[in-house]
Amino acid sequence: MKEKTIIIGAGPAGISCAYALTKKGKKVEVYEASKNIGGMARSFELWGQRVDLGPHRFFSKQKEINAFFTELIKEDFTLVERQTRIYYRQRYFNYPLKLNNVLTNLSLLEILQILWFFGLRLVKPLRNPKNFEEWVTNAFGKKLYEMFFKHYTEKLWGIACTKIDADWAAQRIKTLTLLAAVKSAIIGNKGNKHKTLVDQFAYPKNGSGTLYERASDYVASNGGKVVLETRIKRIFLNQKEDEVKGIELEDGTIKYATSIVSTMPITSLIRGLENVPKEVKKAVNSLYFRNTILVYLEIDRLDLFTDNWLYIHSPDVRHGRVTNFRNWCPSLNRDSKTTILCMEFWCFEHEEIWTSEEDNVIEIAKNEIHKINLISSEDKILNAKVIKVPKCYPVYETGYQENMKIVIDFLDKIKGLYLIGRYGAFKYNNQDHSILMGLLAADKIADKKQINLWEINTDTEYQEDGKIKDVLVQ
Ligand SMILES: Cc1cc2nc3c(=O)[nH]c(=O)nc-3n(C[C@H](O)[C@H](O)[C@H](O)COP(=O)(O)OP(=O)(O)OC[C@H]3O[C@@H](n4cnc5c(N)ncnc54)[C@H](O)[C@@H]3O)c2cc1C
Repeated sequence: MKEKTIIIGAGPAGISCAYALTKKGKKVEVYEASKNIGGMARSFELWGQRVDLGPHRFFSKQKEINAFFTELIKEDFTLVERQTRIYYRQRYFNYPLKLNNVLTNLSLLEILQILWFFGLRLVKPLRNPKNFEEWVTNAFGKKLYEMFFKHYTEKLWGIACTKIDADWAAQRIKTLTLLAAVKSAIIGNKGNKHKTLVDQFAYPKNGSGTLYERASDYVASNGGKVVLETRIKRIFLNQKEDEVKGIELEDGTIKYATSIVSTMPITSLIRGLENVPKEVKKAVNSLYFRNTILVYLEIDRLDLFTDNWLYIHSPDVRHGRVTNFRNWCPSLNRDSKTTILCMEFWCFEHEEIWTSEEDNVIEIAKNEIHKINLISSEDKILNAKVIKVPKCYPVYETGYQENMKIVIDFLDKIKGLYLIGRYGAFKYNNQDHSILMGLLAADKIADKKQINLWEINTDTEYQEDGKIKDVLVQ
């Protein structure tokens, strides 16, 4: 059989892989279940404006990822000044922290408590923090943990911080120490390389999804195939069950391939395989995802607040983040005189809010947006819309790594199979990490490079000269 790669999913991981393979002259077919290109990073028209699925900030220090962006977006981007704040118990805290803002927002007692608990950790640090609570308390002290980490994190994951693997904290807030945060608060971010402190980012003028739409156009006009609204049911292997043979579409159509790149949920992919050993099934069954419900509201006012997005830490409301698309770039808003907000609710599939009628969810959203005073009773809500995004967040519950190891050992024995992406590889990827996985999967397939794709994670960009060599097998 002639070399052919089938790619499952046209999100950032799948489409960047297709793009790179096409550039290398390889035959590619992409199958995408939805009618959109871009996966969770897609953009779409809403009430005469352009929006994303929540906030989508693109940021990378790696030249391969930035080259992918600039090759496709060219000059069609704008630099967005990031403004984000934390809303906590009727107060707004600048994010990243700004010293004067923190001081004016806190009572003397709170400041003393922060210093006291931080001091305690300095004197008596935990040697080996195992869960998120231990990790953050170790780095920042108990008071700051309770104010700025606990509630938001528990809203996001739906489980106690003591059950979340310390790994997640290490990935997301890796080298951000209280000292770095305070330094940034005093002197600003110039020269500070930490990701969460970066305050300007490049954004495609027509929304984050433009990047992937253009990559898809390139594939389609250079001999590749991108097929939308076509869900892949399962992949199948050769007789010896040690190499991929092809895929089956939902309508039963069979397609053969020499390589398969999957960005579908790792759990569904394995469940679709035959003869999966018991221990692998057990490990897979312990992996699970958190869903997101996005509620878009169109408000008849322009100057609601100045942030790109707000983190809602207050425990008295359910939603955790609000994006204001008015504050990204004028090309998104066109000539419109309204503001589109997007509120994020996180939940599991069995929760009532997930199965609730759209009207009920909109009602909850409207009540909450009033409760935190982001809009006043005089502001008219002109339109509302709900979008449900299943399996957004791979849950890093303590112990998940042991289960992932069992799954990876099993998958690594199958030749020609490459699992990448946020739910494809069960990694809490941002766009840049998924793109990197896609590009490197293409190198592996086309150039037979020895790369361990499982090693690519959110750590990659933190490494000093964060280059591809970091993930090459020596
Ligand atoms: C609310 C929100 C905010 C975010 N904010 C940011 C941000 O600020 N910055 C940032 O960099 N990232 C952000 N992200 C993350 C970013 O969207 C993801 O990292 C990125 O989309 C992951 O790309 P992916 O290709 O791995 O997965 P996805 O985008 O999920 O793409 C997978 C694709 O596979 C398709 N698929 C699944 N199963 C099948 C099947 N069986 N057959 C065919 N197709 C299938 C899906 O329909 C989907 O299109 C955010 C995500 C969300 C949800």
